Amino acid sequence: DRSLAATDPEVYAQVECELRRQHRTLEMIASENFAPVAVMEAQGSVLTNKYAEGYPRRRYYGGCEHVDVVEQLAIDRLTALFDAGYANVQPHSGAQANAAVMAALLAPGDTILGLALDHGGHLTHGMHLNFSGRLYDVAAYHVRADDHRVDMAEVEQLAHERRPKLIIAGWSAYPRRLDFAEFRRIADEVGAYLMVDMAHFAGLVAAGLHPSPVPHAHVVTSTTHKTLGGPRGGVILSRTRDLAKKLNSSVFPGQQGGPLEHVIAAKAVAFKLAGEPAFRERQERTLLGARILAGRLLDEPGIGVVSGGTDVHLVLVDLRDSELDGQQAEDRLHRVGITVNRNAVPFDPRPPMVSSGVRIGTAALAARGFEADDFRVVADVVARALRPEVTETELDALAGRTAALADRHPLYPELQA
Ligand code: PLP
Repeated sequence: DRSLAATDPEVYAQVECELRRQHRTLEMIASENFAPVAVMEAQGSVLTNKYAEGYPRRRYYGGCEHVDVVEQLAIDRLTALFDAGYANVQPHSGAQANAAVMAALLAPGDTILGLALDHGGHLTHGMHLNFSGRLYDVAAYHVRADDHRVDMAEVEQLAHERRPKLIIAGWSAYPRRLDFAEFRRIADEVGAYLMVDMAHFAGLVAAGLHPSPVPHAHVVTSTTHKTLGGPRGGVILSRTRDLAKKLNSSVFPGQQGGPLEHVIAAKAVAFKLAGEPAFRERQERTLLGARILAGRLLDEPGIGVVSGGTDVHLVLVDLRDSELDGQQAEDRLHRVGITVNRNAVPFDPRPPMVSSGVRIGTAALAARGFEADDFRVVADVVARALRPEVTETELDALAGRTAALADRHPLYPELQA
């Protein structure tokens, strides 16, 4: 018996426990999702054994005839999905995709302009400990204090003052849409490239439920595992092939060695699924769930919602006026069976390790089949659990309500023993 269970019972046991944890709890980390079984099957396939440095039909290794077909399928499906002229499906992650784009377009010391991390940006958009903050000169724009929307006047002003070579539009914790055309207008004014990092909202774009950045940006990057619902990984897209050579050689040999063809196969499967009607219907439920959650929390005294609502798959709960801080809120929700992460809110008075917010996403529950009625229960449980005065008995009852929801929507029934 060469199964995982027989070969390595310690690892097997944890995989089984993780499956049960994912089933039992309500996964509301906004960057997570549940990859379909077909995606996991591709990722767990013999393609993991294959070296394929290079690109389809231009490899540095023999025996690539099948992975060539797979990688070309992934490229063709991705370009079709987003109406792009160019795609690279090899980046191992979203961070790698961003690193490759920056290495392709910038020299060390050049200036980049991105959304500040504590206002919803990502580490790779210029955080000081990240490669982006270490290699490049960083300018950061913010959201406005009154409505929590990206301050495009500040973007324009900083673009003229700091003359960035790259402007980054995109976010990890921002509940609204960005004005890609306005970003491009500003980039053109100062001769900068515009990169849109759509890691979080790519699934919404694929479903036609969010404006596409592809017509506006010089380059678009994404992860494949958030709203897009595929395997963990990254991709790079562009409307035209103008930057194709630069971007390809920046990924390989610039940043990476052999591509993960098993992951690329899983990406190809995910891109196929993302073009189907069921995917759009699921993204509609994702958006509906986020709106239901925001609406319920806005009705709850003592709790705010950053920007007063949401246009996407996440809600940023504002606890600046609450006795509870972000850490306590994360723990409370964990106690009732809901997994989230604490997150700084704009103008957060508490330190980042504690913070005054939680980021709550609905993509994973939508993938599990949650409908409006289910999301109404989830929203009520979240609102009640975050009441500072809630009792242990009430928390037990709330945990019972989440457990019942989890059982109503079994996760991976085909994998449960
Ligand atoms: N870009 C954005 C906007 C993200 O939110 C993330 C992940 O959180 C990344 C890039 C990085 O992706 P990965 O974790 O795959 O490196």
